[in-house]
Formats: sequence, structure tokens, C-alpha cells
Amino acid sequence: MPSPALPAWPPALPRASCDYLSAQATDYALAHGLVYRPVASSASELPPSDSAIHAPFSLLPSPFPRPLFEKAQAIQPTYDRLYAHVSADHRFLARVIGESVVHVDEFQKQLWDIYVAVKDELVQPLSLGLFRSDYLLHDQQSAGAAEESMGSRHGELGLKQVEFNTISASFGALCTKVSGLHRHLAQTTDYLGAHSGLADLDNLPENKAQDVLAGGLAAAHAAYVAQKQAASEAKNVYVLFVVQEGERNAFDQRPLEHALQRQGIRVVRQSFAEIADRITATEGDSSRTLYLAHPVLGRIEISVVYFRAGYGPGDYPGAAEWETRKRLELSRAIKCPSIAVQLAGAKKVQQVLAEPGELEALLPSLGSEMASADQLRETFTDLYPLDDSDLGRTGYELALNAPEHYVLKPQREGGGNNVYRRDIPGFLAQLDHGAGSVARRQAYILMSLIKPPAGLGNYLVKAATPTNPATGAVLAKDTVSELGVYGAILFETRADHKVQVHHHQAGGYLLRTKGRDSDEGGVAVGFSVIDSPFLI
Ligand code: ADP
Ligand code: MG
Ligand code: MG
Repeated sequence: MPSPALPAWPPALPRASCDYLSAQATDYALAHGLVYRPVASSASELPPSDSAIHAPFSLLPSPFPRPLFEKAQAIQPTYDRLYAHVSADHRFLARVIGESVVHVDEFQKQLWDIYVAVKDELVQPLSLGLFRSDYLLHDQQSAGAAEESMGSRHGELGLKQVEFNTISASFGALCTKVSGLHRHLAQTTDYLGAHSGLADLDNLPENKAQDVLAGGLAAAHAAYVAQKQAASEAKNVYVLFVVQEGERNAFDQRPLEHALQRQGIRVVRQSFAEIADRITATEGDSSRTLYLAHPVLGRIEISVVYFRAGYGPGDYPGAAEWETRKRLELSRAIKCPSIAVQLAGAKKVQQVLAEPGELEALLPSLGSEMASADQLRETFTDLYPLDDSDLGRTGYELALNAPEHYVLKPQREGGGNNVYRRDIPGFLAQLDHGAGSVARRQAYILMSLIKPPAGLGNYLVKAATPTNPATGAVLAKDTVSELGVYGAILFETRADHKVQVHHHQAGGYLLRTKGRDSDEGGVAVGFSVIDSPFLI
């Protein structure tokens, strides 16, 4: 079934209407904790801890084809199980990560070395994945210019996966609030008649992202407690959030903590540096129960370690942080994610899954009622390795000869790491300098650029910052929206490498909107805003 055409966006709004809606929205945001810590006044300082600014958001929801939104939701359970399965499949990880990437990527090597060192010694068979699969709309017409004279602003739209996140997938709480904000404006103002479809709440789907994530953490905590012999042993057991110091996005994390606390589950927040000398797990305790000697709370037991840090090299300034990560991995606490799950989220895994036959080999073991290999493959772009395989040589040729259609990605998370279009050949030339160039290229994948539909914009509402003193809604004319779908899966990796699922809930979404001219879309760094879909 063809997806419906999207309306030109945003509808024109008189300045006074725009100002009215943006004042309503800003107060809603501040009242509901749709906030960030302000930027620190200098690079050497931490952000102030006693004030907040509202997170950047779009004034209107952005049009999104309903069938493609529903498709992204429908295939999420299969993606969740697939990545859980990959993390349990040692032979797959060894082939994809252990035999290539680790030779040229120091960060992946550190993760891999810990994974290998501890994999036969783990005492906790359960892992928690809080996943997010990200997509852009792809305009098939703009990809092949032949039909461009047809007159419509965009051709048939498809849903294409940008990446699959297995660690620190953020914005679950803040995007739930933006959906609430847009629904609130629709309910209380009808968006001042800007577009008739905005008055119908069926077009602005409710967002359960925060509940999905908190539900996963609660299920992991409950499973840990159930493993204990006696209920009395389960007192004073906390979920540990490992966070970055001076995290501006703390108010995306705190609501998960509060949701757990409402269920009687206690949470403690610590940075890698804070826990380094305070955790004990392996010494003198064969059960490897993880304890944290907290300066105020005293000695507490940890049920679940939830990483909102640790996804990039910056979180491991030295050997001490890696040692801490290893001790956490070895402990009895349930990790979110385990190192195996983090490795499964490498961009290299995404590329290999797109190779012929890979999905067909993996999907049958996931159980019944899964999406088909074809349904998943429809969401893949063209992905290439850059090794000396046939496919890798093709990728290299394309990267040098048609770079304007591609993005080059290293095995990194958190934004700002990719190389785009015409920057690719020069970047590869640098890599190619000297011996071992093919090997060095193995640390990257090449991905065809997704071409989002034209003709969409929105009013973006950002708080004033020292570098951007303007407040209120600003019209952005040419925007691109990235959809994320969440999934929470608690699973057991059995001795035969089979996966047994204990808790699984997929759903909830993130929509992030940015100007088309900004290749990377970080919300925290100010390029993009949090949005919600207006289903067409
Ligand atoms: P990260 O793990 O750092 O978030 P991503 O793979 O999500 O890395 O890339 C960062 C951003 O780059 C995405 O949010 C998207 O805006 C853009 N991007 C990534 N891949 C593509 C692609 N194939 N086509 C178009 N834009 C892309
Ligand atoms: Mg990512
Ligand atoms: Mg991303």
C-alpha cells in the first residue's frame, strides 16, 4: 500500500498565534520537567546544579506517514530479539568484532578483551537491553531523479534504519513529555486552527517510552530479587545508574529513577570515578554480590547496573575506568547493557546483518510471530564493509567515486563521529597512508545516505543560551525528522547460547527534528529539537 503524501509543513501561523502557543508550550515544558541543566559558564566548570532551562522542542508535531510509524512499531519486537540473540551468539560476535574491528579500533578492543576474559566466568545469566532503533523517511523519488518532474514534493516514502542503539539510548522521558506537550496544545487550543488534523488526538499518538524503559529496569530488579534465597536478603538493594559527571541531560534520567521509586525500588546515581574505589564484588564472596560503599547511604547491594555512561572513549580516561567496568561485568548485578549487548550494537554488526543470508540464518531461532527477513531488510540501506572482501572492495570504490551518496561511520556512539559525502575520499586517503591501510579501513562501515522528503519545516522553540540569545519559536524551513522506537528486553543467555526471554515490551517513540543542513542531529548540543509525530 503506498504511503500517504505528507502536507507542506508547517502551516502558516500569524506571529501573535505563534507567540501565544510558544508561551503556553514553554510554561508546560518548565512545569513538567522538560528541561536541561544550563550550559556551564566555562569549559572547565560543571553546569549549575540549581537551575534549568527547557529542552529544545518543536512547537507543532511533524507529519509522519501512519503506515510507516506503525511498521516501525510492528518490527521492533523482532529487532529486540535479534540483537539479544546476537549478543548471545559468541561465534557471530567473534567473526564480526573479534576477528576484524578489534585489530584497528582501540575502544572496541578494550570492550572485546573484557568480554573474552570474563565470558566463561559470568555468574549472572540475565542481561537487560533498553534498545532504540532509529529511522529516517526515505524519499525514493529523490533517490532516482527520473520521476522528479511528476509534480509532487516527494515520491513514495520508505522507512530506513539509521542505527540500532544498545547502550544509553536516551530521551525516553523527555520525548514522552513532548508528546504530552503537543497533545496538550491540541486539546486546549486546537492549535488555533493551524491544521484541522491537529485537533484530532488520534493523529498524535500517546507515547509510552518512559514506561517501557522504567518497566525494563523494574523487571530486571524484580528478577534479581527473585534469585535471592530469602526475602530478607533483598532489603537495601538498589539500582545503580552509572552517569557522566555534570550531565546536562540529567532530567531525562531522573524520571526513570522516580518511576522506579514509585514502585518501591531505590536508585543511586554515581559516576565511574565515584564508584571506582567503592565497589566490591569479587573479593571474598563467591556469589559476587555487588556492593557499593556509599559515603551517605552506607554499604548497599546493587541489583541492576544501568549505564548512561560508558558508551564512548571519553568515559574511560585510563585503565582504572576499564577495570571498574570489568568488575561490574563480573559481578552478580544485572547489567544494562552487558558488554556483549554493547558489542552487538556496533555499527559493524548492523552492516553484517544486511549481508545476504545473515538474517535468514538468525531469524528462525528467535521464535514464532517474528517479522520476516524481508520485512526487516526493507528497512536497510545499502551497507558496505571496507575490508578486502568483494563487498568491501565495492564499498571502497563507491566511497572514492560516488562519495556524495554515502556516509562513513566508525564504531562509535553519541553523535559527531561520522564522515559525510565529499569528506570521505580525503579521510580515506589519510587512513590509506602507510602500511595496513585495508586493515585500518575495517574500523569503518559505508552507508548510503537516506534522503528524507522535502517540503517539511517546523517552528523550533529553544531556550536562550549565552551563544544564542533569541527565545521563542523560530521558523526552520527545511527539516528532517528521525524516528526512534524503544524496546526493553530482559533475557537469559543459556549455556547452549540460546536466549530465553523473561520480560519484553516494545514501543514508545522518539522523534527528533533538525535542519537538513546539519548532518548530525544532537539535541543536547543544540542541532535538533524533540518532536512528536502528526500521523497522516
Ligand atoms: P550515533 O550513534 O553517533 O548517533 P548515527 O548512526 O545515528 O550515529 O549517526 C548520527 C546522525 O547522522 C543520525 O542521527 C543522522 O542524522 C545522520 N545519519 C546517519 N546515518 C545516515 C544515513 N545513512 N543517511 C542520512 N543521515 C544519516
Ligand atoms: Mg547511536
Ligand atoms: Mg544515532
